[in-house]
Amino acid sequence: MIGDYKPFVEEAVIREIEILAKRLKGIKVLHVNSTREGGGVAEILHRLVLLMNEVGVKTDWKVIKGDKKFFTFTKKLHNLLHMPGRFEIDSEEVVYYLKITYENFERIDTENYDVVIIHDPQPMGLIAKKVKGQKWIWRCHVDTSTPDPAAWKFIETFINAYDACIFHMPEFVYEKIKIPTFTIRPSIDPLHPKNVDLSPEEIKKIVSVFGVDPEKPIILQVSRFDRLKDPFGVMRAYRMVKKKYASQLVLLGGFAPDDPEGEEVFRELKEQAEGDKDIFLLNLPPDSHREVNAFQRAATVVVQKSLREGFGLVVSEAMWKGKPVVGSNVGGIKRQVVHGVTGYLVNTVEGAAWRIRQLLANAELRESMGNHAIERVRHRFLIIRHLRDYLLLISKLISSAPIL
Ligand code: UDP
Repeated sequence: MIGDYKPFVEEAVIREIEILAKRLKGIKVLHVNSTREGGGVAEILHRLVLLMNEVGVKTDWKVIKGDKKFFTFTKKLHNLLHMPGRFEIDSEEVVYYLKITYENFERIDTENYDVVIIHDPQPMGLIAKKVKGQKWIWRCHVDTSTPDPAAWKFIETFINAYDACIFHMPEFVYEKIKIPTFTIRPSIDPLHPKNVDLSPEEIKKIVSVFGVDPEKPIILQVSRFDRLKDPFGVMRAYRMVKKKYASQLVLLGGFAPDDPEGEEVFRELKEQAEGDKDIFLLNLPPDSHREVNAFQRAATVVVQKSLREGFGLVVSEAMWKGKPVVGSNVGGIKRQVVHGVTGYLVNTVEGAAWRIRQLLANAELRESMGNHAIERVRHRFLIIRHLRDYLLLISKLISSAPIL
């Protein structure tokens, strides 16, 4: 129930949502992405779609189908949108992308919706199905501030047919974009099993099941096994820390069906971790919410050492649990971590090791940063604000009436 969020937000925000929802009554909204589990987009959609329906805005969520070849191409595209790379996009890949997109035309009925929201590049070709009277929004979850020109050129073909696009932060809006752009920050749900309070006994019990010692400092990174999350850099930083502080490293991750790289990264990490019984590589199923929650709460320091990052929900998740985060100075991490207040932003492996050591040495500092972190998430990164932003944008797009 929307009322259950009252302890977390001002009553006025809930009231605003109710007014907007009333205005949108009768409107049908569709979200489309490329996976129902694994990664932040799926994580958000599970909760957002539920809440949109609950406030009375009829909302569906559909997932496109693709095979390994399709997702290998879209993962490359994803990486190239984050930064120019040494790969090129060849015409055979483009043809294959269009073929799979075309197959999804049949599967994904979009006609019966007033507003269609397409998440990320994988399903963006569905725009060819747009019919008169509909509004289509492209929701970008990538840092596209400096994309590879060829990758941008490829997605631009589709973008210009949309009515609007949404980015996480103003800095992500690429200068060449020609359609209206909006900024909406992602969010976490305080009522999700991943974020609800857990008793100290439950936390200890869960981490112990995996062989992790709850009494010994834990350095944690939670992320899909993806090179862009730099788990190898985290391992190097941990090894520097370990020379001075006895500690454990937990790399908790999983695979996403739309990311074929995961298994290879996991294998390489396993090789590199061999011989160190204080390194825990945990490959958990996507519904391991309580486990992720417990590890985030058990952690002494949380790290997010991504080389590039769209937003990084895991950062807010850890902050909400009162943890200081040592995060890379990139993408959405920069937005969440306030350097020196809620954690530290770092540019190198050595910098990460230095800040982790600093935090391990000072429990008081950890606690005060953790308290600031909770407040920052409460004011900026909770789902109620996210829901309000979506309703506001939809309201603006479908009506000429002035927005609130
Ligand atoms: N996550 C999870 N299990 C894992 C790895 C990640 O439940 O093994 C969750 C994590 O808690 C977060 C989301 O997946 O809610 C990842 O979102 P984020 O924005 O941090 O990264 P993305 O995977 O979208 O790049």
